Amino acid sequence: MTTPRTILTADDNQQIRMLVKAALRSLGHELIEAVDGEQAIELAVERVPDLVLLDVTMPKLDGWEVLHFLRQRPETADIQVMMLTTASQTMDLAHGASLGCNDYLTKPFSPGDLRAHVERMLGA
Ligand SMILES: [Mg+2]
Repeated sequence: MTTPRTILTADDNQQIRMLVKAALRSLGHELIEAVDGEQAIELAVERVPDLVLLDVTMPKLDGWEVLHFLRQRPETADIQVMMLTTASQTMDLAHGASLGCNDYLTKPFSPGDLRAHVERMLGA
């Protein structure tokens, strides 16, 4: 048994948020959601989740802007962040790491892929 953690999913696509929830439910963590970049920052500052799953293309602030903001603040600087990219946004992890993200997953992803990434990131 692992300690329950808090995972924030920030994606403007409701289907993706539902898919993430369905995929991660069995892990027993607390799942919270944001529908745009502004809400992602609000919730990240308020709740300081252990992991953020961050969509790149979102209204108000995009995922890279959110990531940049989180890395600037001491309270949120160490949060694990996984970017959810599309095929056209594919990057290598070294480049992603230089921007401050810890991992990325290309959409569409399978529930099993997502769980494997999340468990690895949380050190489960
Ligand atoms: Mg999006």
